[in-house]
Amino acid sequence: MSLQLKRQDLLKNGSYVGARWLTSESDISVLNPASGDEVARVADAAAHDVSSAIDCAATAFPSWAAKTAKERGQILRKWFDLVIAHKEDLARIMVAEQGKPMAEARAEIDYGASFIEWYSEEAKRAYGDVYPTTVEGGRMEAVKQPVGVCGAITPWNFPVAMITRKAAPALAAGCTMIVKPSELTPLSALALAELAEEAGVPQGVLNIVVSSDSAMVGQVFCNDARVRKLSFTGSTRVGKILMEQSAQDLKRLSMELGGNAPFIVFEDADIDAAVAGAVASKFRNAGQTCVCANRFYIHKTLYDEFAAKFSDAVSALRVGNGAEEGVEIGPLIEAKAIDKVHGLVSEAVEAGAYALCGGAVHDYGAQYYQPTVLTDVTQDMRIAREEIFGPVAPLFKFSTEDDVVAMANQTEYGLASYFYARDVGRVHRVAQALHSGIVCVNAGGFSTEVAPFGGVKHSGFGREASRYGLDEYLDLKYVFVADLNR
Ligand code: ADP
Repeated sequence: MSLQLKRQDLLKNGSYVGARWLTSESDISVLNPASGDEVARVADAAAHDVSSAIDCAATAFPSWAAKTAKERGQILRKWFDLVIAHKEDLARIMVAEQGKPMAEARAEIDYGASFIEWYSEEAKRAYGDVYPTTVEGGRMEAVKQPVGVCGAITPWNFPVAMITRKAAPALAAGCTMIVKPSELTPLSALALAELAEEAGVPQGVLNIVVSSDSAMVGQVFCNDARVRKLSFTGSTRVGKILMEQSAQDLKRLSMELGGNAPFIVFEDADIDAAVAGAVASKFRNAGQTCVCANRFYIHKTLYDEFAAKFSDAVSALRVGNGAEEGVEIGPLIEAKAIDKVHGLVSEAVEAGAYALCGGAVHDYGAQYYQPTVLTDVTQDMRIAREEIFGPVAPLFKFSTEDDVVAMANQTEYGLASYFYARDVGRVHRVAQALHSGIVCVNAGGFSTEVAPFGGVKHSGFGREASRYGLDEYLDLKYVFVADLNR
């Protein structure tokens, strides 16, 4: 059955370039991961379409940048209002193309919209500095100016929020943007563009290119000197390719890459709170987020109790089609994701790990994986090093704070870390010692538009959300004015 919406026209079938909806001779089939059914067909953009989007963004830039920050903020505010007004339709589109449970989709619309709201306000606060002059009679100031045309490449796991977290600060700063959403989830991006147009975002300021050839889009972005900045969310592998390709032009970059988050439960933790936090952190979006806990380190005195309670909670999670109310774990995005997750689990089990619950493909369907808790996992197993991106929680045992901090940091990634502890000295000590861009203490989630999100090491660089997110789209210019009368 086709997707039923209150506003059927939010379902688009081609890229949005210079306020036009493109058609093409070839289409991308967007599949519902819950059923394998086709949700829609979307025109597949070619290299000349991407170049044309850059033309439009470059043409639109001077007048968009020249608007007052207040004017840009007012347009963004309207966009925010429209996204919220169409939350239900946007959530349905998201569930259909991405598979996450309806409640999570609605929460993502709120979260995604929060960036638009925040930057509609923050647009006015791109403050500069005036310095006490070191030259008599001179004036020294630093002003912030928009970077220019920006490219964005986004993943499928948060089809709305990963776009608004880039587009809202870019537009607020006065930049224009071309977004390439994941070819698996283009429909949410196109619906956002329709609402942006209705909000009054002018022609060419926001463009969406949908293509099955993501490498081509990356190359067109990177080879065009007019694109002054590239913001990427996705795998570390692709982030490195884009960084290399951007070297020629020395483009500014923001890189939001993979993670391998540790989740530590110390002996002084509130164990029930830790279990609840572990479920929230691990199983959101069926484990398909870059900040999902990937390795659970449990103090040896709590290990058995934690494992039993956690496994009970995980076994109770309801698996099914995300469109059904009450479902908590949807399908994984693609068949190959199942192969990867099951490969990691099987290898760990062969090497001595034990599946306290789960450990296999779910009866509900071939693209569903049983929520899984593995005990007796060791640091040398592949599952300890790689991002699982599925509903699988491996449990490790530790004895001392120093040991666990060393194990937690023993990864090339550094996006998020979690720990549960009540000793205030330990809370501060461990928060300082963990090598990650985000540390979450005594909670299973932390994301908000007001605080900076981003990583260190192979998890990338640059920050999204918060006032720092705006700076990613601004260049700092120092202006020195001498006093000609002296
Ligand atoms: P994930 O594992 O989250 O899918 P990817 O890095 O593969 O991470 O994908 C993130 C985004 O990067 C998607 O929009 C995808 O289409 C795009 N992408 C994949 N390969 C390339 C590439 N070589 N150049 C540019 N973009 C790419």
